[in-house]
Amino acid sequence: MPGHDLTERFAATRTRIASAAIEAGRDPGSVGLIAISKGQPADALRQLAQLGQRDFGENYLQEALPKMEGLGDLPITWHFTGQVQSNKTRPIAEQFAWVHTLDRERVAVRLNEQRPPELPPLNVCIQVRLEDEPGKGGVEPSQLAALAAAVREQPRLHLRGLMALPPPKETFAQQKALFDRLAAALRTLNDAGYSLDTLSMGMSSDLEAAIAAGATHVRIGTALFGERNRNPQAG
Ligand SMILES: *Cc1c(COP(=O)(O)O)cnc(C)c1O
Repeated sequence: MPGHDLTERFAATRTRIASAAIEAGRDPGSVGLIAISKGQPADALRQLAQLGQRDFGENYLQEALPKMEGLGDLPITWHFTGQVQSNKTRPIAEQFAWVHTLDRERVAVRLNEQRPPELPPLNVCIQVRLEDEPGKGGVEPSQLAALAAAVREQPRLHLRGLMALPPPKETFAQQKALFDRLAAALRTLNDAGYSLDTLSMGMSSDLEAAIAAGATHVRIGTALFGERNRNPQAG
């Protein structure tokens, strides 16, 4: 029964997160779980929300918007976790609480202009490219300070921290070494006067290493929902 599977996967994922936090000497409450629901039907999101999950991440606007509308009765916090196309910023500015994948000043300016005044500032993380991956988003580490400074100038954006989507690695040590670089980049910005509190890193296959490196938000799809339907846009 699918509902039963989801209940078990949700419990198992939360146990994995809590165990990883304890292993790292951290408070399990300091690691947030974002359910990455791309490719999943709205019913599955509803079931998970009814089990108590609040934060959901979507990657494709065309898929996300009807699901969000259908789930409008639920107290969900929506995170945009896909690549932002600069001509499609308005629905993101209007309907999401977070964007994890900001990597261009032009997009920051548009999101700032389009964020409705009655809503709180849009929470944003800058996506950093930790390794060379053609076609994947993210600002080069050498450009991070300049982009952070530009984002900080936008009053309708609230710069919360950094995000990474590193390529899969085989070992815990290799995974953690990459996540440590993102954590170091966050410390560098905070030493320069920022007060960033978010490290969005870690997925189904590497959440333990991300939590050991200081992740405050892990983004989990497969471990929660099972294998997703292939989306032709997915990388
Ligand atoms: C799909 C996706 C995830 C979740 O990946 P899983 O391996 O299924 O847990 C996390 N973050 C982003 C940005 C994604 O696109």
